[in-house]
Amino acid sequence: MPDTSDILRLESLKVHFAIKGGLFGSILGRPAGAVRAADGIDLNIGRGEIVALVGESGSGKTTVGRVIAKLAQPTGGRLLFEGRDMTSAKGFSALRPYRRRVQMIFQDAYQALNPRHTVFDSVAEPLRSLRLVENHAQLTERVSEALSAAGLNPPGDFFARFPHELSGGQRQRVVIAGALAVKPELIVADEPVSMLDLSIRAQILQVLVDLRAKHNMALLFITHDLPLAWLIADRIAVLYLGRLVEIGSADDITFNPRHPYTVALRNATPQIRSDASRVELPALQGEVPSAARVPKGCRFHPRCPLAFDRCKEEEPPAIEVGPQHMSACWLPTSGANAGLSTASL
Ligand code: SF4
Repeated sequence: MPDTSDILRLESLKVHFAIKGGLFGSILGRPAGAVRAADGIDLNIGRGEIVALVGESGSGKTTVGRVIAKLAQPTGGRLLFEGRDMTSAKGFSALRPYRRRVQMIFQDAYQALNPRHTVFDSVAEPLRSLRLVENHAQLTERVSEALSAAGLNPPGDFFARFPHELSGGQRQRVVIAGALAVKPELIVADEPVSMLDLSIRAQILQVLVDLRAKHNMALLFITHDLPLAWLIADRIAVLYLGRLVEIGSADDITFNPRHPYTVALRNATPQIRSDASRVELPALQGEVPSAARVPKGCRFHPRCPLAFDRCKEEEPPAIEVGPQHMSACWLPTSGANAGLSTASL
């Protein structure tokens, strides 16, 4: 039986960026406000589990990924790795073991790769910087293994190539190989296939799924694409303006969503709209508001066709709406609206 205990846990995680308050604000050192990129996120990821973090751009999903990869510092809450508090860990020696075990893959492979580095050097870089190999023979072996696991075969054919000599799919595979080289236990993949052609997407997703099967590696898959999330993930967490509004199994979130925002996301998706059991809901209106101007009450209320008075005053907590299924919406609980659900639209 593979170990499925939590490898990572976020508790009430907050990332607020201060907004400078003009000349006087700067002189007095007073911020004019804050961008609430992440605002009280609770999330756990089991060993070998694939969790998709889904949301529109501006929802805060990349910020959450960067905090987990220790590329951004939270302003509140805790980040626990195997139960150990890593929230304020800083510096090379404190972070070295963590960086070996948690890696991040970025959306834009072209930017992620140094154009002057060969494929060999790009993949070897984390092994060298984390001092994980003792000699060149070991380095070559680990680079070859990683390239091969990422689907670049025979690996030796790619060693001396530069990023501009590769296709988009091959570049993304090199980025994945760089993350794999250190044999991580958790990968944070931020929109890893959104810039690739459809046919290449499937191959890259297969590489990620194979890694879980072979090494029980956990994956946080960040995407704006709900069908893609359903395809790859065990669970889906839906983020809106820095808050998790719904989390559950990939099937529940995709085919039995309980939060109006998730229903709207689903109904905006032609692939899933073809499902006969879909719930009708008007299309999403407008755009995600700025995280610097988070509305009072439920953050989704300005765009929610079901909003009622309470939604404008009080932020709903996440409540259990099914087995392992949580939704942050007043509908099922609120006075005269108790029992109402998105299905009644
Ligand atoms: Fe809509 Fe109210 Fe539910 Fe928010 S709490 S999603 S505004 S019904």
